Order: sequence, then C-alpha cells, then structure tokens
Amino acid sequence: MADLVGATPDGLKSDTTFLTVRLLNITLCDSIERGRQPHAPGEERTVTLRARLTVTFLGVVLGPVLLAAVFVGITATELARDRADDRLAAAASAVRAELAARCDRLQSAATTAALLAAEGRTPVVASGATSVVVADAYGGVTASAGPPAPTTWADCAGGGTGDGAFGVRVERRDRDGALLGYAQATAPVDGALLQALAAAGGVTVGPGEIERRLEPGEGQPLTLVISTTPAPLDRLYGLLGLVVAVAALVALAAGWWLARSTTRPLADLAHAAERVAAGDLNARVLHVGPDEVGRLGATFNRMTQEMRGYVRALTASRDQLRNHLALLGDTLSGTHDLARILHVTLHTARSATGAQAGVVMLFDPTSGLLVAQCSVGAVPGSPSLAGITLAPGVGMLGTVAESGVPAHGRLADFAVAPDEPRATTFVAVPVAVPEPVTPLEDSATEPARGVLALYDRVGPDGFDETDVSTLTTFAAQAAIALDNVRLHEEAQRLSLTDSLTGLFNYRYLRESLRRELERAARFGRTLAIVALDLDHFKDVNDTYGHAAGDLVLVEIARRIRSVTREVDVAFRRGGEEFVVLLPETDAAGGSALARRLAAEVRGTPVRAREHMINVTVSIGVAVYPEHGATGSAVLEAADIALYAAKAAGRDACRTADARRPPGLAIPARRPEVAPAAPVGDPSVPVTGVSRGVQPAQRVLGG
Ligand code: GH3
Ligand code: MG
Ligand code: MG
Repeated sequence: MADLVGATPDGLKSDTTFLTVRLLNITLCDSIERGRQPHAPGEERTVTLRARLTVTFLGVVLGPVLLAAVFVGITATELARDRADDRLAAAASAVRAELAARCDRLQSAATTAALLAAEGRTPVVASGATSVVVADAYGGVTASAGPPAPTTWADCAGGGTGDGAFGVRVERRDRDGALLGYAQATAPVDGALLQALAAAGGVTVGPGEIERRLEPGEGQPLTLVISTTPAPLDRLYGLLGLVVAVAALVALAAGWWLARSTTRPLADLAHAAERVAAGDLNARVLHVGPDEVGRLGATFNRMTQEMRGYVRALTASRDQLRNHLALLGDTLSGTHDLARILHVTLHTARSATGAQAGVVMLFDPTSGLLVAQCSVGAVPGSPSLAGITLAPGVGMLGTVAESGVPAHGRLADFAVAPDEPRATTFVAVPVAVPEPVTPLEDSATEPARGVLALYDRVGPDGFDETDVSTLTTFAAQAAIALDNVRLHEEAQRLSLTDSLTGLFNYRYLRESLRRELERAARFGRTLAIVALDLDHFKDVNDTYGHAAGDLVLVEIARRIRSVTREVDVAFRRGGEEFVVLLPETDAAGGSALARRLAAEVRGTPVRAREHMINVTVSIGVAVYPEHGATGSAVLEAADIALYAAKAAGRDACRTADARRPPGLAIPARRPEVAPAAPVGDPSVPVTGVSRGVQPAQRVLGG
C-alpha cells in the first residue's frame, strides 16, 4: 500500500500501472472481504456509541446535581431544627417570666389576706389567686375565700408538691415576731394557664415535635414541657426535586445532542467506509468541518478519490493489456508475418511489465549472429536498439540467447557488450519453444531462436521472477509462431519450386504470368515470354540413362539462370521444357536473350558423370501486347514460335508472328519438319506451325 500512497495516479502511465494491479487487488479484496464478514451467530450487538455517550453525560451532570440537592435538603432541615431550638429557648424565658409574674401576684394576694386576717377581716380573692386560705399556727383554717384550696400545690418559693395548682404561703406574726399562722393564695394549673403561658412564649405547652423541659426553680414552681414545630420544608424539597428533574431533562437533552453531534459524523464516516468496503468508491463523507472528525472525513474523501484514480488507471492498464493479449493471440494464430508477430509480442511484453524499452533478437541462419529484429522505446544515452548485432555468447543478450537461461536484475552486475544498451535494470528471456511436458528419451534440448529483452521498468521496482515467468511464456509463444512461419515459408517455397532444378514450377508460372501481365498492362510496358524445349531429349535418356538426363536438366536450369537478369524469372514448365518471363522486354530483347541461351546450351557439352553430352535447345519468343492480349495468348504464341523452331530443324530461335490471328489454336499434331531457319535469325516469322504433342492441353488457363 505504501507504493500506492506514495505515487500519484497522474504520474502513472496506464501501461505501467500493471505493477500495482495485484497489490491493490489484494488490498482491496481483503478489505472488501473483511467488510462483508457477517456478525457471528450469537454475537451480541454492542450498545451504540451515541447511547453510551448520552448515558455518560447524563451521569456526569446528574450526579453532582443530585448530591447538591441532598446536601441542600439536609442543611435546610438542620437549620430548621436549630431555629426551632432557638425559638424554644426564647419561649422558655418568656414562660418563666410569665409564671414569675403570676407568683408575684399570688404573693400580693397572700400578703393581703394575712393583713386582712390581722385586722380580723375576711380575706378576698384577688390578684390572680383562685383560693385564699388563712390558717393559725397549728394549721387550722381560720378564714378562706374562693373554692377550697387544693391540698397539694407547687410553691412559687420552691418545693411543694402536686402540679394541679401553684401558690404562695406567707407567715403571720405579731409585733413580737411570734408566729400567728399562715396565709396562702393558690391558682390552678388549668387550660387557661397553659394557653396563657403558650401565648407568652409563642409555643405549645405540652409535648410536640421539638420539646424543651422546664424544671421547677426560683419563681418557676412547675415542671413544664414546651414544644414547637420547625418551619415546614416541603416547598424546598419540592423545589429541589424540580431542580433535579429539570437538570435531568436538560442533561438528557444536552447529552443526546452532544452524542448526536459527535457520533453523526462518525456514523457518516462508518457508512461511507462500509460502502467503500462493498466496492462503491464514489462514497463520500459530507461532514468535512475543521474539527478532528471533519478532518478525518476530508482525509477519507481524499483517500477514496485517490483510490478511484488508481482503479481508473488500473482498469485502463488492464484493458490495454487485455487488448494486447487478444491482439497477440490473434496475431500468433492468424498470421505468418514474422515482423508483425515479433512486434505484437514485444509490445505486449512491454505493456505487461511496464518496461521503457525492449528488443527481440533472432539468430540469423546464414551468419549465425544474433540480430535485432524488432525494438520498442529507447534507453536514454544508448544507441538505437534496432541496430544491435551480437555474436552468440557475447554480452548479456548473447549469453541468454546461447545458454537459454533467463536473467534479470541490474545491468551493472552483468558483463555487457559495447553494443548493448546501458539501462539500469533489465529482464531477458530466450526465445525458445518450451520443453515438452514429458520429454522423449532421445530428444535433445532445442536451442533458442533468439532473445527477448526489456529495459528499465517505469517506477521504483525492478523486474522480478513474475516478469521472467510472464515473458518466458510470451517468448515461447513467439518461438512457436516463429517456427510456424519458417515451416510455412519452407512449405510455400516447396510448393512453388521444382525440386530437381530449383526453378519455379508450372503452378507458380501461371501465378507469375498473371501478375506480370497485370503490371505490364497497368504501366504500359512490354513483357517477353521465352519458351524452351530441349532437342531430342528422349534420346539423351535413352542413351545415357534417366539419371544423366536429370543432371542435364539441372545444368540447363543453371545456365538459364546465369544468362537471365535478376528481374527475369525462370520456370521449369515440365519435362525438358522451360519458360522465362522477361519484364519490360520487347521482341528484340527477347530474341537476343533466346540467342544467348541457345548459344550457352550449345556452346559447352554437359558433364554427366563420365559423359560429355551435347545438348541443343529450340526457343520460341512472344511479347505482350504485340502477340497476345492475355498471358495465355502470349504463352501460346511463344509455343507456336517454339514449334516453328523445332520445325525449322531444332537448335533454333523463332519469334511469334504479330499477324497471327488471336485465338489461333496450336496444331494438335507434330508438324512436318520444316526447313530450319538459321540460328540467330529470329526475324523469320512463324505461322501455323504445330508440334507433335498435344499442345492444346498446355494452353494456360485451360
Ligand atoms: P523434341 O526434339 O521433339 O523435343 O524431342 P524430345 O525427345 O525432346 O521430345 P519428347 O517430348 O518426345 O521427349 C521428351 C522426353 O523428356 C521424354 C522423357 O523421357 C524426358 N523427360 C521428361 N521429364 C524428364 C525428367 O524429369 N528427367 C529425365 N531424365 N527425362 C525426362
Ligand atoms: Mg518436350
Ligand atoms: Mg524436347
């Protein structure tokens, strides 16, 4: 992946991105497979991030709020109790003061009763006393007012018994201080008193929520319990509950919003990543703000954009390679054009490996040298690849071609011939047919036909074993195609030539005649046809044997080739008959060649083993368009002239007669021997001569 990220798609030529096809394929496929992996059965779906964030936020906010509410509630309760205590303390003082005041009034009432008793008057109930009693020193009641006094009562001066009433007792004494008796004033402890005390203290007298006990003491004769109720906190508690509820709601809303705003971009990103994993590289993240998640989204978008670029480049590269392979297949199987086969093979190999340059070299059958046949690209600073020629075993290319062992790596690590390119990296494989899967016992390893080499792959990597393997396959296909081409050429040659003399055969004569005549007609040129027939050749066979006859035929063919120009084409028409086509030659030129040929044959006897055989030839010459409008017509005219030469006594040349009516058939019978014209006199026209064979069967074109 590092390769891919490190390079830009634009920097990759489509035919070189093949390097990364497999890599990216593997990476993409892996991630797609991982993305498609289903949840294992029984695997629990986890709580969503959004829910977790919401709950966490709720806990974080609500915890302190709840704690604060509890604290406030407890504190408020304590404060209410303290205030109630304070109120009770104040109330106790007020209650004591009220009781003291009442005791004072009872003191006054008792004193008044004592004074009235001293004067002998009847006491009265006054100053808050309910009952007044005057008694003598022995306790006998001497006078009283009000309802009967209770027997037990609490004394304001302290002590006393009972709590149903309270009062004051004063002593009565005479002037000398002797005790005369007592006067007492009491008041009941009743609801009115308690109400009055409660009103004075502002509290309840009696048990309650918060109590305080008042023990008897100076001026306080009663044991009292005063109580109060703390201020009610229901509203406070309600308010706190409301605050907590509102805080919970706000925290829930804020937590949900926060979680949503946090997880939404992440969810978008996850969704886009899932789409990419499923193969949709057009997936984009819409949230690309400046925060961390936004940056992540923007990076993701850039990443997918780059991946799209890579995939486009790879697709183009794959398509190009596919086209090249299709072309290679078509070419290898459908043509015998060696140059085209090598060209397509080399370009496909270059496309498959991303090389910058390449060359195919083949062994030249005649010189044995390794010669560049086809090249592509160029290695900077090196001469053209097209001109390399190497001896077998020389340099890196020569070594690979001779040894048949592929090589790859840095060129500097190999012994390189001066003619070879100075590239950095290379891969070279022999152009050799592959070894049979099950080699035959006596089969020898086939030598390589040449070498295919590529130089300097585009990109940082050199060629590897995979490239060697790929190129070996290509080179093997090329070698097979090369062998096919050579076989085809050989078959072609054999089908067009006569195996005895090496001249072209009758079949090729028809083809050549048609082609040469078309050319002559198109360019307004002449075409001379020279027809030859050895004289009395049957006698040669009969005299010296058939093998000697063959040698004579071979020698005559050689002499024909030696006399004719390069552009002239000689054919063995069959038996001991030959034809020579002379492009752009008129009747005079044709006659001149005929005479030279006749002289060449006649001049030197042919050696056949121990025999020297004298041979002569009869020749007829006809010219297009002078003697015929078609190839067969001109050849027929040449035949007629040849028969004329035979008729003239053989070892003679004759030119066709332009006045002969077109389409005149060659006589079916061998003509009577006519007086021979002197050799070298082609001006003698020939008309109506015939030969003793079935010439009609030989008319070209049937
Ligand atoms: P003419 O002067 O009239 O042409 O006489 P000729 O004997 O050459 O004519 P003919 O057509 O009667 O004989 C041709 C002979 O050529 C017959 C045949 O034995 C011989 N011949 C044909 N083809 C070959 C061949 O391939 N090798 C050999 N050795 N002889 C051949
Ligand atoms: Mg013949
Ligand atoms: Mg003959």
